[in-house]
Amino acid sequence: MKVFIVHAHPERRSLNGALTDIAVETLTGAGHAVRVSDLYAMGWNSAVGADDFGDAVSSPLDVVHDSGRAYGTGVLSADIRAEQEKLKWADTVILQFPLWWYSMPAILKGWVDRVFTYGFGYGVGEHNETRYGDRFGDGALKGKRAMLSLTVGGPESHYSDRGINGPIDDLLYPIQHGILYHPGMEVLPPFVLYRTVRMSAEVFADAAEQWKKRLLTLEDTDPIPYRRQNDGDYEMPSLRLREGLEIPGRSGFGLHTAG
Ligand code: FAD
Repeated sequence: MKVFIVHAHPERRSLNGALTDIAVETLTGAGHAVRVSDLYAMGWNSAVGADDFGDAVSSPLDVVHDSGRAYGTGVLSADIRAEQEKLKWADTVILQFPLWWYSMPAILKGWVDRVFTYGFGYGVGEHNETRYGDRFGDGALKGKRAMLSLTVGGPESHYSDRGINGPIDDLLYPIQHGILYHPGMEVLPPFVLYRTVRMSAEVFADAAEQWKKRLLTLEDTDPIPYRRQNDGDYEMPSLRLREGLEIPGRSGFGLHTAG
């Protein structure tokens, strides 16, 4: 595999840092190629701005179309092009982060905002009455696989079906479906560690073993069976799931997973 890890934690000696180190060591030890973007160490700029788009910028700024023109003409700023090149190189992408305010740290969201440009992350393919682009199963990153690896402060029960924070699958849906599946990547089930604010050495050792096992079985892991946009499950042009396709007991985000 060619694995690209995007690491988002301000302290390299953190639990998240340890998980990234384990991933690099385990994957390279198994003969895979690994590249890491350590966003805080790189001083990643997470704010979209006119400087991103070179001479493709318009006035007033039009982030959607300026980003598409800049991508198409190769004038995106060098830091964005470098990240897009790593994504093109990889067949497997891992996002490593702590759950902060029920989501990813802002620096990682800013990485997505700037790197997943029009023509690359979205705005791909024909848009008409019968087809709304190449998304959710198709797209520029089709053929790649992605996975979240995250650490969570609270215990697992808080993130279970009746847990007060809502099910973890729901919290992660905007990232897994809205960001990773949207440009065509298959999404593997996440690796989630709970109750991580304080971990004993024993709990850490157990977590490290679980993580190594996940890493060494990535190639055999089935992706989450999200429904493909362009395979007939959705009515056009509304893109509502066709009546009768829902799995009994499923609602909300769960409607968009088959099987
Ligand atoms: P660290 O603080 O680095 O470490 C955690 C524990 O692991 C420590 O006990 C440490 O000693 C141990 N450890 C670390 N590395 C090693 C190692 N190499 N060997 C042995 N032991 C090690 N939680 C929620 O549940 N929901 C939220 O919405 C949420 N929002 C947050 C928002 C903010 C802004 C912040 C700061 C925290 C939030 N949290 C939330 C808690 C957060 O998810 C956890 O603090 C985080 O996931 C822990 O990961 P870390 O890498 O920062 O851990």
